Amino acid sequence: MSPSGAEVIRQIKSQIEEVDPSEVNSAVSNGNGSRPVLIDVRESEEWDAGHIPGARHVPRGYLESRIEGAVPDRSASVVLYCASGNRSALAAHTLKELMGYENVTSMTGGITLWKDRGYDVEVPKSLTKEQRERYSRHLLVPEIGLEGQTKLLASKVLLLGAGGLGSPTALYLAAAGVGTLGIVDDDDVDLSNLQRQVIHTTDRIGVPKVDSAEQSVKAINPDVDVVKYKARLDASNIMEIIDGYDVIVDGVDNFPTRYLLNDATVRLGIAVVSASILGFDGQLSVFKPHDGPCYRCLYRVPPPAELAPSCGANGVLGVLPGTMGLLQATEVIKLVTGAGEPLIGRLLLYEALGATFTELKVRRDPECPICSKDPSEISDEEMGVFPDYEAFCAAAG
Ligand SMILES: [Zn+2]
Repeated sequence: MSPSGAEVIRQIKSQIEEVDPSEVNSAVSNGNGSRPVLIDVRESEEWDAGHIPGARHVPRGYLESRIEGAVPDRSASVVLYCASGNRSALAAHTLKELMGYENVTSMTGGITLWKDRGYDVEVPKSLTKEQRERYSRHLLVPEIGLEGQTKLLASKVLLLGAGGLGSPTALYLAAAGVGTLGIVDDDDVDLSNLQRQVIHTTDRIGVPKVDSAEQSVKAINPDVDVVKYKARLDASNIMEIIDGYDVIVDGVDNFPTRYLLNDATVRLGIAVVSASILGFDGQLSVFKPHDGPCYRCLYRVPPPAELAPSCGANGVLGVLPGTMGLLQATEVIKLVTGAGEPLIGRLLLYEALGATFTELKVRRDPECPICSKDPSEISDEEMGVFPDYEAFCAAAG
């Protein structure tokens, strides 16, 4: 009489080595050279629902054809696991008896027992069908691809200002699938904004800019979480607001805030993509603490208040913040995905009337009052030394 399936599994288990999850856990968390190779032999859907960190995936149906790719060395220590320990036992038998793997074991109880013991499980990020379609043009460029898109969706980007620069930046970062967009702005939409602040609309005049911006962002991409701060950034709230963001997009229009931001971001180690505009001219740089200069390496102290251009209404070509804001958005995406060469240690100048781009190299100042120090040495007092915006501009008359 032929044996039952259960009997076959019992017999096979008696011919192979089995190992308890506790031994596997201590072997993989050991960190020395004798770590075994962990192979998950389950189906793809099971793998996607969660697997042991560091494991490789070779479904049992592809075992014979793929195992040599995953484990070329037949003397390597290999631990196979499945959901409960049966499929991995059968696979271990195949590797040992038919393929000559010398040192192969099957984990008893599978990932079910592993989880019961409270050991780590990693759940891989994957895109929904709708996300695959929405971001298909990103998935097609190898510099971004699934990995980059996953990073974008997990990223947190803070926009300082939902004005001229913040408008195009927010719209394109939302479209690109940045997962969390924080927006700091204490203003309401005004008719005079609409010549360039394209995230707002005529029927939203009088509405807080953060609310108007959220409405436009959500309309483009419901994947994006919008965090609104209807506030002006100052020494009292800056650390609380910026902490936890991966990249900050600086579109602030005044010097005190720009210096405060620099000092706080150096202290927290957050990269800032900074742009400014006036008339027909724009400039752009990326300040990544300790990888390149900070804003104070370039301009150690703010200009005298009477020379600061930002205290009144200044004229600007309406499309200029679009150009500069989209260069900022591009740098953000590069920083998040790791693609390309971000504009660190370089200052890009754009003159719209002449249609010229000029690049200046900027260096770290070894005597910089902020970034030459250890971040923990930057005191709260040093970050609050600048007067607030009103006082600063009042001094300008
Ligand atoms: Zn510096």
